[in-house]
Amino acid sequence: MTSYFKCLAKKMGCCGTLNQNKGRAVTPQHNNMRTWIKNPLAMLVDKGIDAGGGIVTNQDRFECFVPAGGVPAGTVDAVFHASEHVVLPGLINTHHHYYQTLTRAVPVALNKALFPWLKSLYPLWSGLTDKMIDVSTQLAANELLLSGCTTSADHHYLYPATLPDALDIQVEALRKVGIRSTVTRGSMSLGEEQGGLPPQTVVQSEEDILVDCERVVRRYHDPAEGSMLQIAIAPCSPFSVSESLMADSAALARRHGVRLHTHLAETRDEIQYCMDRFGCRPVDYLERVNWLGNDVWLAHGIFFNPEEILRLGQARTGIAHCPSSNMLLGSGHCPVRALESAGCPVGLGVDGSASNDCSNMIQEVRQALLLQRLHYGAPLITHEEALRWATRGSAACLGRQDIGEIKPGLMADLALFKLDELRFSGAGDALAALVLCGAQKVDAVMISGQWKVLDGERPRVDLAQLKAQHADLARQLQ
Ligand code: ZN
Repeated sequence: MTSYFKCLAKKMGCCGTLNQNKGRAVTPQHNNMRTWIKNPLAMLVDKGIDAGGGIVTNQDRFECFVPAGGVPAGTVDAVFHASEHVVLPGLINTHHHYYQTLTRAVPVALNKALFPWLKSLYPLWSGLTDKMIDVSTQLAANELLLSGCTTSADHHYLYPATLPDALDIQVEALRKVGIRSTVTRGSMSLGEEQGGLPPQTVVQSEEDILVDCERVVRRYHDPAEGSMLQIAIAPCSPFSVSESLMADSAALARRHGVRLHTHLAETRDEIQYCMDRFGCRPVDYLERVNWLGNDVWLAHGIFFNPEEILRLGQARTGIAHCPSSNMLLGSGHCPVRALESAGCPVGLGVDGSASNDCSNMIQEVRQALLLQRLHYGAPLITHEEALRWATRGSAACLGRQDIGEIKPGLMADLALFKLDELRFSGAGDALAALVLCGAQKVDAVMISGQWKVLDGERPRVDLAQLKAQHADLARQLQ
């Protein structure tokens, strides 16, 4: 254990100097304590707040800022010496497909746009097993944690006949990992025979879908502040779900007070599909099925015209911007600033790890900055903006007011990065360096006051074994 992290064996008085030499190294079981994240190199907080001395967490929440040169009032149980760390609120991923970690860089899917890419992968995905869902979920969640992500939303929409309990398996896997989660109950009901894109082997009947949506909401959704698990309803896309299932899903979600999620306006092919099948563009379709609302967040949101952006903004519908996926598939550019100006919350998503092909949230922040700069120019797109999308913006998409900021009263979710790699050498502004020099790996992660990553590692988690198991399953699937 490195020396920057000490647990005080004896509780210290409120004022005066804490004797760090009397401390001993903290181990992960020292959770739920009052912890001082001391003297960070940089910390992402609102302008005007003096938090030079850091932040104190108490149990599962942030308690108070510490001004520069100050010490916390009262006793603290542990001190994390953060003078070499850039401290961020835990990053929040708003869109993923964990199972796709099993089909990264698959030869049959290389160099393709969305529709042909999907059609080349559906046959592989139809072979998913329970074990594959379990292991891919654990692998993706660990990969995300190590990139500074503390909350993640997954969109699982594949339910071949052999895999009725995919969501239940995911929930168990995520509990093992301990990442804060929104798990969306995805669905596909429109196979090729009904004019949809996916093969019949991966679609379900609408009745089965709705019954299962209701079951998983009742069983797993926890709406409470600090919730570790929320459920959302997520029909996959206009080209894989019928109009009636979209409308019925909205009604079901609203009966239960859960959120709605889908892919929308991702490619020109999809716009054409909507025109051909529904006789309207995607936003008109969304309105027709009662999906324009502030309880909805949409993955991608690229092909909107100015009038549609105004309607989405008035409805406060959220957008999960997925820059890596959009660039990799050559889909297009999400008009983030126009959407935010209109009133839409915008968050970031890594998207499935077959169209990225990784699950790294801090990399996604850089990708968002670069892609949006290309469109809006350097002065309008700052590193603070990009970090805000990955934190507050993402929290708003997921309908959470209890995460996304370092602020007293909110859940103590933190990502701490060290700038000790060659890529950071000589950097001036630490917060800017994190994004511009391309940070990839976190040093420490806290979720609800509990350390999930320390010294860049997952305590008591055998990642080598998980990776070997995952690679073996990927070979079987491919
Ligand atoms: Zn997606």
